[in-house]
Amino acid sequence: MKIERLIVGSFEVCCYIVYCEDTKEGVIIDPGAEDPRILELIKTLGIKVKVILGTHGHPDHVVGVSFLKEALNVPFGLHEEDDRFFQDKNNFSFFRSWGFPENPKADLRLKESDEIVFGKEKIKVIHTPGHSPGSICFYNQKEQVLFTGDTLFVEGVGRADLPGGNFFQMMDSIKKKILTLPEETSIFPGHDYGSKPVSTIGEEKNNNPFLEEIL
Ligand SMILES: [Zn+2]
Ligand SMILES: [Zn+2]
Repeated sequence: MKIERLIVGSFEVCCYIVYCEDTKEGVIIDPGAEDPRILELIKTLGIKVKVILGTHGHPDHVVGVSFLKEALNVPFGLHEEDDRFFQDKNNFSFFRSWGFPENPKADLRLKESDEIVFGKEKIKVIHTPGHSPGSICFYNQKEQVLFTGDTLFVEGVGRADLPGGNFFQMMDSIKKKILTLPEETSIFPGHDYGSKPVSTIGEEKNNNPFLEEIL
């Protein structure tokens, strides 16, 4: 499995292009801007995109979805709870005040344990609510890779003060669903806020000050 990263949009979201080296089938995770570099990279690498995925429904992570769907004609997958929550105009009005258009509707409503297959690779959905109701991580067990969205950052955790957020729920998700994975598991977060772009669960257990109280 190969992973390419692009930092996109004014919120500097980490957009990942993840693909199978043998078949070149792949997925796009968190396209946070209508950034032509995403399409250029896909073309350069010769990737056949199967699906566009969101780690959660905050618009800084999914605002590029419609643009990519139009160009690639592939479905968009988001956890069912975030699709429901952010399609609600009242819940979304806060993000409208940040200048975002309404969210793209999910074609695939994801849930716990769903598997997304691309070529000889697959990633599994782990529901980690708290940053938002339908925040999820994508886990590749074979290579021990975890895309953590805005739930767990390198040396940090997500904010929980946005509509639908719940700090205690987020910390509980991290404790029960993330820190229980093997310590060698690499984490690829939704923003590059730490001192390095990638970390491991073991390193975060040692270095992440926000995790002290749940270890
Ligand atoms: Zn977020
Ligand atoms: Zn974010």
